Amino acid sequence: MNQKASPLLIVGSMAFDDLELPTISAKNVVGGSATYSSYAASVFSPVRLVAVVGEDFSSKDLEALARRGVDLAGLERASGKTFRWAGRYDTNLLSRVTLETQLNVFADFRPKLPRSYVDTPYVLLGNMHPGLQIDVLDQVASPKLVIADTMNFWIEGEPDALAAMLKRIHMLVINEEEARQLSGQHNICKAARDILRRGPKSLIVKRGEYGALLFDADSTFFAPAFPIEDVVDPTGAGDTFAGALAGYLARSGDLSSAGLRRAIMAGSAAASFCVEAVGTAKVARLGLPDISGRLELFRSLMEVKHDTSLVTA
Ligand code: AMP
Repeated sequence: MNQKASPLLIVGSMAFDDLELPTISAKNVVGGSATYSSYAASVFSPVRLVAVVGEDFSSKDLEALARRGVDLAGLERASGKTFRWAGRYDTNLLSRVTLETQLNVFADFRPKLPRSYVDTPYVLLGNMHPGLQIDVLDQVASPKLVIADTMNFWIEGEPDALAAMLKRIHMLVINEEEARQLSGQHNICKAARDILRRGPKSLIVKRGEYGALLFDADSTFFAPAFPIEDVVDPTGAGDTFAGALAGYLARSGDLSSAGLRRAIMAGSAAASFCVEAVGTAKVARLGLPDISGRLELFRSLMEVKHDTSLVTA
């Protein structure tokens, strides 16, 4: 692996979340897509963050990001309140409903890249209006890799802006339902073929505890999720996955099919830590030994020593 990691630009939400989990409720938990992604990516590469917080966001929480090598030059502190999201999970943590979304300062967020960010070679665009994602790309000189997330809200409400965004990115990372909704195809392989025709060279379909699928022009790869006995809080697992994946690629510089497969496994390993604690408690402390330890466990999880005598004619 190329140890001289390139910087990664991350744009997304920073939030306070109220979480109703099966056994506990937690209020004012620091979250947001950019927060989870930045912590996870910072395991592998320097991060340049573009996001907005309100006056109520503590300097202590920003310092925690800075200590992980996250550059906050692109962080805006606006007058008003930070974005808030509230969600309730069902008893087995498989599904959740959004109870409340208060956009607050995020409503007027217009990502503005400091001059020092313009040459950033790797870009991760968190879920936000696809028009804003395009605005970000208009400000970056010539990125080597652009990864984007989106959600049902934009698929339904902003199809034209979304179509234009898809033409500008290399990789889309979405969940299974979003892939079906975007393509109009139920079968996930057909959905992937359809989405790949719209712009991105590769597509990752996240399936929560059932892992993730990577599709590109000529191959499909499956990465399992690591089975965790005590899942505490799945919030941010998708953003952690995308952050670690993008950070890993910024560190390796290897965008081949094999390189993408390694990156997706790093994403899966990072996400498995995220769900073990409330909010960013675990992701904020992740280190390379944690990831490599879990990659070893993945290896044994998937290892099969076939008895070839039983499968030869
Ligand atoms: P995930 O569980 O990976 O989908 O990410 C959950 C995080 O996304 C939470 O910390 C929320 O604050 C944040 N979030 C929820 N809704 C939105 C939204 N509409 N735009 C941006 N971020 C959001």
